[in-house]
Amino acid sequence: MPDLVIRGLDAHYGATPVLSGLDLHVESGATVGLIGPSGSGKSTILRTILGLLPPSRGEIVLDGRRVDYAKPAEVRALRERVAVVFQQYNLFQNMTVLQNVCITPVKIRGRPRREVEDEARRLLAKVGLADKLSSYPDQLSGGQQQRVAIARALALRPEILLLDEVTAALDPELVSEVLDTIRLLAREGMTMMIVSHEMGFIREVSSRVVFMADGRKVEEGPPARIFDAPQEARTQSFVSKIL
Ligand code: ADP
Ligand code: MG
Repeated sequence: MPDLVIRGLDAHYGATPVLSGLDLHVESGATVGLIGPSGSGKSTILRTILGLLPPSRGEIVLDGRRVDYAKPAEVRALRERVAVVFQQYNLFQNMTVLQNVCITPVKIRGRPRREVEDEARRLLAKVGLADKLSSYPDQLSGGQQQRVAIARALALRPEILLLDEVTAALDPELVSEVLDTIRLLAREGMTMMIVSHEMGFIREVSSRVVFMADGRKVEEGPPARIFDAPQEARTQSFVSKIL
């Protein structure tokens, strides 16, 4: 039962502050939708959680334990529990779909190949790619490749999945097949934080929506309140432009 809490988080790129006093809670089974203008710090939150950018103040607490990002073993342990999928899917071009999904669990985690392959087949069927196991990435559409990337992340058996604009690079007609996959995960109770500009989707799938601007959380609440009755002027302005 994962539970991720961010408290009073500041982060900087060099001397430039990018996150200020951020409080955020991703409770077990929740789907937290993260929205906000470009440059508001959404990706930085995910990068900070993963230890790619050290917090300069505040803390990130996983299941009641503060993560010490100065300790590589703690960062490794966290990355075994928290997986991320980015806009760029970065599949290995010289490996089949099945190999792409199996490589890390087998080579890095040392799990039995047989067991991992069985699980990978199940995951690829779940994302609608049961007939593409032997295909290479360049034989797939962008939407199919992104679904392979999601299956690859799930093969790590994460407790929390972070999705950063996973449909942003896709042609419009390929977006819905990827959203269908995420919708399924949400319905199964996967704990997720989703950054997306697909507002209709965020509204539908999120248990809670967080609106960010200028590295700060401006407002958060149930989707209906954020989209239909935002309290803050900044949120009102953003929402009025996107609807
Ligand atoms: P979002 O994902 O909401 O679009 P980001 O988290 O990517 O926003 O960026 C937040 C701010 O940090 C922006 O002002 C951006 O220009 C800056 N930033 C992002 N990455 C870097 C970097 N590697 N070095 C310096 N500044 C960066
Ligand atoms: Mg981003």
